[in-house]
Amino acid sequence: MLRIDLNVPDEEHEKARKLGAHWDAAAQIWYIDDSFDPTPFMNWLPFYNVHAEFWYLAQTRTPCPHCHEHTTVTGFMLPAGHKMLETDDDDEEDDDETHAEVDYSEQDSPAFLFYVADIPTTVRNVISGFHHTLCKTEGQRIRRTYWINHCEHCGAQQDDADMFAEVGGAFFPSSRKEAAAIQLHRIDEPFMGYCQDISHQRFHIDMENTVLSAIKGAYTAGDWFKWMTHVINVQSKYPH
Ligand SMILES: [Zn+2]
Repeated sequence: MLRIDLNVPDEEHEKARKLGAHWDAAAQIWYIDDSFDPTPFMNWLPFYNVHAEFWYLAQTRTPCPHCHEHTTVTGFMLPAGHKMLETDDDDEEDDDETHAEVDYSEQDSPAFLFYVADIPTTVRNVISGFHHTLCKTEGQRIRRTYWINHCEHCGAQQDDADMFAEVGGAFFPSSRKEAAAIQLHRIDEPFMGYCQDISHQRFHIDMENTVLSAIKGAYTAGDWFKWMTHVINVQSKYPH
């Protein structure tokens, strides 16, 4: 059974229930399975802008900007070959017409996703098998709801822009040593999600960098992929 999560606004819960959607109390989410005709549920179907055949759960430790203790942070990395929706602008239009015209393009290098606003239950089940502090909540710095890392010590939100968009941030290495501090756990399951930013779009110009000088000094976090620590999982712990 393929499960399809639905994005149902609070005021429409009763409508979803009457149409026969199932309620997952643990995840606080409505869903249907693929035996349903999705037509009545169209307005609530999830919209994903990134897809991959497999993915990496990335983890590293970083000093919390609030209490300065080191805390574990978790990110999503997609391999080369992932597909991404190309958008012309940042307008979030929810018309079905615009969705019909969307086009996915294959990306030739790995990338971190950030400001991840939506992931399906299959991906959530995977992260629940790891120690992590991700929680979908509203950001304090930017008023958006997304999966945010929280400090293990003081509970403060760890800002995605600091970690993914600024070189030297937890997930944007500037040296082999910093890259090696990032652990990648390969997850052999399809990934899909909705993210508002991706590391392809974040270049750092550094003509002095001898490691990545082959690509003319400008690099993205994904260019450090082969120097990251690839963790071989003996046995997957997560439920299916
Ligand atoms: Zn802290």
